[in-house]
Amino acid sequence: MGSTGIVFEGVRKEYPDGTVAVGSLDLEAREGEILALVGPSGCGKSTTLRMVNRLVEPSAGRIAVAGSDVMDQDPVQLRRGIGYVIQHVGLFPHRTVAQNVATVPGLLGWSKADSQARVEELLDLVGLPVGEYGTRYPHELSGGERQRVGVARALAVRPPVLLMDEPFGAVDPQGRRRLQREFASIQKDLGTTVMMVTHDIREAVLLADRIAVLSRGGVLEQLGTPEEVTENPANDFVEDFLADFDVEPRQAEG
Ligand code: ADP
Repeated sequence: MGSTGIVFEGVRKEYPDGTVAVGSLDLEAREGEILALVGPSGCGKSTTLRMVNRLVEPSAGRIAVAGSDVMDQDPVQLRRGIGYVIQHVGLFPHRTVAQNVATVPGLLGWSKADSQARVEELLDLVGLPVGEYGTRYPHELSGGERQRVGVARALAVRPPVLLMDEPFGAVDPQGRRRLQREFASIQKDLGTTVMMVTHDIREAVLLADRIAVLSRGGVLEQLGTPEEVTENPANDFVEDFLADFDVEPRQAEG
């Protein structure tokens, strides 16, 4: 009871053209953890993620978020309760930064005062103080700043579950490490359950509590902590995949 995990049981996605993006996937993102999905391009990571909020409809199997089958829920309601961050965040171009972050609180009927307080708090957390950035429009921001607004917007209503697809891809390398650390600390404070797709295995090692390595067709080759996956690859596929990135096991922060 009360779990905010994401559970996949025998989930399959076959697109109308016959492509089987995900064959039969069993997987769980546990309450409060960051689960990273990694694997070569086209292995089914985004499809897997997008089935959780029904941007892609599963062909078979069951996906439960916080114990409820996603197919039993209205997709619009479902999405309001699940944060979603993608690389090209799709901010509303004619709304200011503050208005963008206040979007879902507004839809959920929060009072103006609550909403404003939350916007201030979040913009502060992602390093964009409201006094300086609140009234700017998306075209007045750098790619990395837009990405920060996307993260703030997704966290605005403290969603118990957050989906992220290459969330820090547009941020320059120096800003990225900082934003990743800030994000990890916000996530731990909020206890958010996160499922994250990344092609950056270093990002997965840095941020994730567990990593799921997928191969073509959404086949789960290994599921384990960053240490387990990097130190004890389950098979040749995982070993070869990691070798391409020259990853070192996660070090304690110095
Ligand atoms: P990844 O995120 O790991 O790169 P995707 O989930 O995007 O992988 O894609 C998995 C497979 O499904 C790929 O073969 C891709 O070409 C295919 N695919 C993705 N979206 C569609 C679609 N809308 N129609 C048909 N095939 C698709």
